[in-house]
Amino acid sequence: MEFRLDDEHEALRKTVQEFAADIVAPRAAHFDETGDFPYEIVEQMGRMGLFGLPFPEEYGGMGGDFFALCLALEELARADSSVAITLEAAVCLGSMPVYRFGTEEQKRRWLPELCSGTALAAFGLTEPGGGSDAGNPRTRAVRDGDEWVINGSKAFITNSGTDITRLVTVLCRTGERADGRPELTNLMVPVPHDGFQASKKYSKVGWHASDTRELVFEDCRVPGDAILGDLGRGYAQFLSTLDEGRVAISALAVGLAQGCVDESVRYAKEREAFGQPIGRYQAVAFRIADMQMRTHVARLAYYDAAARLCAGQPFKREAAIAKLYSSTIAVDNARDATQVFGGYGFMNEYPVARHWRDAKILEIGEGTSEVQRMVIARDLGL
Ligand SMILES: Cc1cc2nc3c(=O)[nH]c(=O)nc-3n(C[C@H](O)[C@H](O)[C@H](O)COP(=O)(O)OP(=O)(O)OC[C@H]3O[C@@H](n4cnc5c(N)ncnc54)[C@H](O)[C@@H]3O)c2cc1C
Repeated sequence: MEFRLDDEHEALRKTVQEFAADIVAPRAAHFDETGDFPYEIVEQMGRMGLFGLPFPEEYGGMGGDFFALCLALEELARADSSVAITLEAAVCLGSMPVYRFGTEEQKRRWLPELCSGTALAAFGLTEPGGGSDAGNPRTRAVRDGDEWVINGSKAFITNSGTDITRLVTVLCRTGERADGRPELTNLMVPVPHDGFQASKKYSKVGWHASDTRELVFEDCRVPGDAILGDLGRGYAQFLSTLDEGRVAISALAVGLAQGCVDESVRYAKEREAFGQPIGRYQAVAFRIADMQMRTHVARLAYYDAAARLCAGQPFKREAAIAKLYSSTIAVDNARDATQVFGGYGFMNEYPVARHWRDAKILEIGEGTSEVQRMVIARDLGL
């Protein structure tokens, strides 16, 4: 057992770390304030190959693995969670289902563009009426001749309304199964498309520069072969998509948690009170030491889940543990970093204030903390 990154992963981590420090961090406050989508940064990440990291070269990818993606997400989130979640959702929710479940034709049609970062795909599970119970959607798709006709709506869908959004995969009820449960199928809707509308961006507490919208489908007609993979496989596909996504969200949470440590250490050395730097006071130093301890443990948790995933081993429980723990400590670190900064920590222009607002969603998106506990408990046979 070894806990050292190999040379290739370490080189990637360093490249993304430098990109995040030089390009992403200096612009983060601006995008946070304006809520503009960071098109230029996305374009640069596309040129770096980040959108194609875990996909084979034959589909336009970099031929890397999921671990590489997690390292990139951690380094980006250390600087800016909006940029990190844009990449996470594009890869894990947008491209990955196409790669994992799509037909050869669907992969060849969509993946090269998505891997280049010139196009984004989104995945619509959550509905205005519920997200945790995603296996029970109201959105319906009815077969009409050679086509499917989709009616319904989805809520909080990331990357669904940017100028470069080209695909939305949407979970639909396509019938009833023999056991009375809904038959669920994922349908791929090219964007723009008649009958599909992405509403205006939500006003959010954090992740300001990330694109999040409600989607409306009104008699939206897609061809019969718009099914992702096979008919009736929607439930299994989204469960598996979320298992992987949780590892990635965990990496993102660790990045935010580390960013809070970075900022706190710097500030504690610089800020003076009662004649000396505040970092000399044990109350402050111990608070930051605890933040680093939590971050380190959370990182090991996602490394473990990612390593299992890459090795083709079961990782559901480990993914839920990593997501649950790292999102919890990201919120803790963001709160504590704000405390270290005192009044300045409450000012939006300081990164720790942004981290504080960006942290909370980590306990909600891609399965709430309660849902992670449900997954772990079920895996324990409870
Ligand atoms: C910024 C943002 C981006 C998002 N991006 C996407 C996206 O790209 N695609 C997508 O499909 N979704 C996306 N989501 C949706 C997100 O995944 C859901 O918000 C989340 O899964 C929770 O669903 P909900 O909001 O409907 O809460 P609900 O399911 O209504 O839950 C409300 C509360 O009840 C608790 N709860 C529910 N059921 C149980 C239970 N059985 N036992 C105990 N507690 C329970 C929950 O844990 C939660 O605390 C995004 C959300 C946000 C805010």
